[in-house]
Amino acid sequence: MAIAEEFRYGGTCVIRGCVPKKLYVYASQFAEHFEDAAGFGWTVGERRFDWSKLVAAKEREITRLEGLYRKGLENAGAEILQTRAELTGPNSIKLVNTGKTVTAERILIATGGHPTPHVALPGHELCISSNEAFDLPELPKSILIAGGGYIAVEFANIFHGLGVETTLIYRGKEILSRFDQDMRRGLHAAMEAKGIRILCGDVLQSIKEAEDGRRVVETLHHGGLMVDQVMLALGRVPNTTGLGLEAAGVKTDDRGAIVIDAFSRTSAPGIYALGDVTDRVQLTPVAIHEAMCFIETEYKHNPTSPDHELIATAVFSQPEIGTVGMSEEQAAKAFAEIEVYRADFRPIKATLSGRSERTIMKLIVNAADRKVVGAHILGHEAGEMAQLLGITLKAGCTKDDFDRTMAVHPTAAEELVTMYTPSYRIKNGERQ
Ligand code: NDP
Repeated sequence: MAIAEEFRYGGTCVIRGCVPKKLYVYASQFAEHFEDAAGFGWTVGERRFDWSKLVAAKEREITRLEGLYRKGLENAGAEILQTRAELTGPNSIKLVNTGKTVTAERILIATGGHPTPHVALPGHELCISSNEAFDLPELPKSILIAGGGYIAVEFANIFHGLGVETTLIYRGKEILSRFDQDMRRGLHAAMEAKGIRILCGDVLQSIKEAEDGRRVVETLHHGGLMVDQVMLALGRVPNTTGLGLEAAGVKTDDRGAIVIDAFSRTSAPGIYALGDVTDRVQLTPVAIHEAMCFIETEYKHNPTSPDHELIATAVFSQPEIGTVGMSEEQAAKAFAEIEVYRADFRPIKATLSGRSERTIMKLIVNAADRKVVGAHILGHEAGEMAQLLGITLKAGCTKDDFDRTMAVHPTAAEELVTMYTPSYRIKNGERQ
């Protein structure tokens, strides 16, 4: 068993994704915590934020984690190769650093993806992506973030929380296109109330460098903007360029993703692909699940294909979104009649802090069999709640199961088991 990596061990999630992102989310929340403290009797002294200290602390933690990953590989008896690897034939791989060619009975490609550079955009080379955002030499005073997906929304909240004047530009009508409308609108309103400027229905036209090194941005509908940094968060594409896939007979699709079957087998016998490079669902736990299925199938002789149904997920915006299953819009199309249970309330903490924030919770129920087919939360710790809701939906729980579950009081989550009557129904697409 040998594993080759050209950069750092741990992948996108650990090195430049989920883990450092979550650390930066925590960093960015302190400004609000300090403000909220006054309502609870605290006087907070002078506040100062040092970006370089955060970057250094993050770096120490990521280095520690990378060390743990390497240790895990060593303990498992894997040979760790610090090099780029490229396929040269159906069973052969060139280790680029040494030029040596090695062979293997089975080859697993898990090279991940990278942020779309958006080369059609004039001045795209002046923009940063999430890769660079973590390690900027200094915190910009202002930033324009393009995109309306996970990364754009999360980073807009991070930068705003750290005191950066933040603008988000998104081409669609409302941010987070694949989420439930209430979550999208609720988060949009909360972000604007904090002071994040959101320009929907607009796109970047060009970026130029000003004499003072700032960025001059032209937008289609909102005219010109001057900012310190422009960050593109317009999706991620698979890392398949230059991998030697053709030489090995591995097919890719029109987005460059490796084509696989239900068991992660590529078009070349003995070569498999997992995770973002296959562009199924670009989430860390999904890649891990696909890997477990691969082991089960290939090494334990128990053919198991990945299950991509009902994946709970969170957007680490502020407030967070936690969600699993169908949005109201999807369920209304899929079923003849749905019941929507909706709660919109001020969290307890906000009563004393005086912060004008709302928590929104929704359960979507298929009226025919009472199964809960979607659960959506906008509010503190929504991600944590989504994880547990994921179990209930996966188990096929009905609304009656929720109703006979005792509440945990006082929590926000208790709303999920105390919404006894539907807020409204949607029958044949019509709201009742
Ligand atoms: P997303 O797919 O979430 O969002 C991409 C955004 O870019 C969408 O708003 C999309 O608009 C917009 N877009 C795409 N192409 C263009 C274009 N040509 N011009 C203008 N806008 C465009 O991708 P991200 O980059 O945010 O994140 C990549 C993936 O990483 C996510 O899909 C997610 O799976 C994963 N991720 C998960 C996180 C989590 O679990 N918390 C956190 C961060 C990333 P439209 O919606 O209109 O198509």
